[in-house]
Parts: sequence; C-alpha cells; structure tokens
Amino acid sequence: MEKRRCLIIGSGPAGYTAGIYTGRADLKPLLYEGEQPGGQLTITTEIENFPGYPEGIGGMEMMEDLKKQAVRFGCDVRTGYIKEIDLGSRPFHAKDDHGGEIEAETVIIATGASAKWIGLESEKQFYGAGVSACATCDGYFYKNQTVAVVGGGDTACEEANYLSTLCSKVYLVHRRDELRASKAMQHRVLTNPKIEMCWNSRISRILGTEMDGVTGIELEDTKTGTKSEREVTGVFVAIGHQPNTAFLAGQVELDAQGYIKVNNPSSATSVPGVFAAGDVCDPNYRQAIVAAGKGCVAAMDVERFLQSN
Ligand code: NAP
Repeated sequence: MEKRRCLIIGSGPAGYTAGIYTGRADLKPLLYEGEQPGGQLTITTEIENFPGYPEGIGGMEMMEDLKKQAVRFGCDVRTGYIKEIDLGSRPFHAKDDHGGEIEAETVIIATGASAKWIGLESEKQFYGAGVSACATCDGYFYKNQTVAVVGGGDTACEEANYLSTLCSKVYLVHRRDELRASKAMQHRVLTNPKIEMCWNSRISRILGTEMDGVTGIELEDTKTGTKSEREVTGVFVAIGHQPNTAFLAGQVELDAQGYIKVNNPSSATSVPGVFAAGDVCDPNYRQAIVAAGKGCVAAMDVERFLQSN
C-alpha cells in the first residue's frame, strides 16, 4: 500500500495548481490525471482570457505547461483514474484503475465536469459518427457542410460561432425563444449570417444510416408539437455539464445538481481532510482561472489541515 500525505484526483487547472502548491510545500503529492488528462481545456482551441497570455494560448499547450510546472516541484503525476475511494476514516483508502492502492492523509477532489447529452437513442447510435459534444475536437470533419448545434448557453453559442468558420451553415437549435448566453455572445450569434436560429425547438430524432452516418434532424416545435426536418451531417450537443462525482458514492455532501458542497471561501467538504476545487464544486463560474485559484485554496487548506491534525 502506497502512503501519501496528499492525493489529488484530477488534472485540470484546479488539480495541477493544487499540485504546484502542495509540491512546493514539500508534501510530495500524488496526482491522478483521470480519464481525460488535462481536463476540458484540452478540447478547447484558444484560451484568450487566462491572465498572462496577451496573445492567447492553446488549451492543450496550457495544460502541458501546468503539468510541467507541477512535476518540477515534485508532484507525482500518474496516468489512470481513481476507481473507488473510502472516505469513512483517515487515512483514506483509494483504488486506481490498475489495481494500485493508496493510503492518503488528505484528498483534493478536482475531477471537473463532463458534457450532458440529450438522451435520445439516435444520439447514442450516431455518437462518433456525426454526433459530438465538442466542436473544437470534431468541427474540422464537417468543413463546408451543414451542421446543427443544440443549446442556448455560452457553450452552444461559442460552438456555433466556431463551426460557422468551418461549415457552410449552422442551425442553432434552442428549446426557448431567448438565449441564455451572455449578451456579447448572443450578439455574435444573431448577427452571424451563417447561423440560422431554430427557436422553440428540440431535436426529437437524429436521422441517418449506418453507412452514411447522420443525414438530418427531426425538429419538434416545443409550443405546437409540429415536426419538421433539416438536412445536416453533424450534430453538436452543448447543453451543459454534470460534475464528475459518481466515484465518491455519496460519501461527500453534494448539492441538488450533484456538485460537491464546499464551505466557502475554503475548499473544505463535509468530510474533514477532503477538499474540492474547480468545476466539480462550481456550477456558476466554470472558468480556468477560477479553477486554478481554487486549486491554490485547496492546497493551502491541506497544508493547514496537516499542521493541525
Ligand atoms: P448553460 O449555461 O447551463 O446552458 C445550457 C443550455 O442548454 C441552456 O440554454 C439550456 O436551455 C439548454 N439545455 C439544457 N438541457 C437541455 C436539454 N435536455 N435539451 C435541450 N436544451 C437543453 O451551460 P453552458 O452553455 O455549458 O455554460 C455553463 C457556464 O459556463 C455558464 O456560466 C457560461 O457562462 C460559462 N461559459 C462561459 C464561456 C465564455 O465566457 N467564453 C464559454 C462557455 C461557457 P434553457 O436556456 O432553456 O435552460
């Protein structure tokens, strides 16, 4: 059994920042990268709003830099994910996906959040064959084609704008008659000649064949129930995210949406010695800079906790 003073679960900006700080505090942290090493930012092209990069930086590049910085200070970054954890008593016991077992005096949970799906059978059928949750990752495959984006928030608008630079036409399908996105983002979408709004609409079926992949969508008017079809070759689902907390099996207090409850402004969870940072406990801001800041908070909380416990 491997013994550690601090186990960090997750490798987004929160996890790596916690790694940098606990590393510099000589706690020799062990960090598990998780199923998506580098987190959600690795599927973003350009980050323009992280202070310190006046020309912007690629998401993958930034996460590689954060990882290098954490490793430089002695953070042990490990490929794989924590499958199971027992937070019933300290030290805590965790099992990874390779059969490894860790005994940790403290834990920082920074597992982030994952994309939500509409829940259609046809969505599952065409996943990876015309259905995607990441325009940045898959948009390239739809160059000069017509695609649909689902959602009315900042993510959907950002994806629609991005796709309009590659595709010949983008339908933005939203279930209401008003976008949830910020005014600036709304303006960009509503004045983009390549984007056509499908207001009060939901996708009731994704059409296609096994050989051709996606060929269209069936839309249902959310007010009248009237159905119509659009020809598209790609469907991008951008309806929000859910926090990655299933592996905790209810051992830490969560809010109604499944986000970890922390004792703000600290990162303390309902279990003494267990801290959380980043999107896994933040349904509101979901920004890299906020997650990084909270990773620092969690690391400092761990240091103080270890001094007094
Ligand atoms: P969001 O703000 O929660 O928006 C989700 C959208 O999907 C809403 O318009 C919602 O409709 C719709 N939706 C939810 N479930 C649906 C379903 N089952 N079927 C159809 N539509 C559904 O999520 P988000 O856009 O991912 O943004 C999350 C947070 O990140 C926000 O705070 C946002 O400002 C931030 N963000 C910021 C940036 C940026 O600043 N550049 C970029 C991306 C995200 P309703 O409106 O009807 O509820």
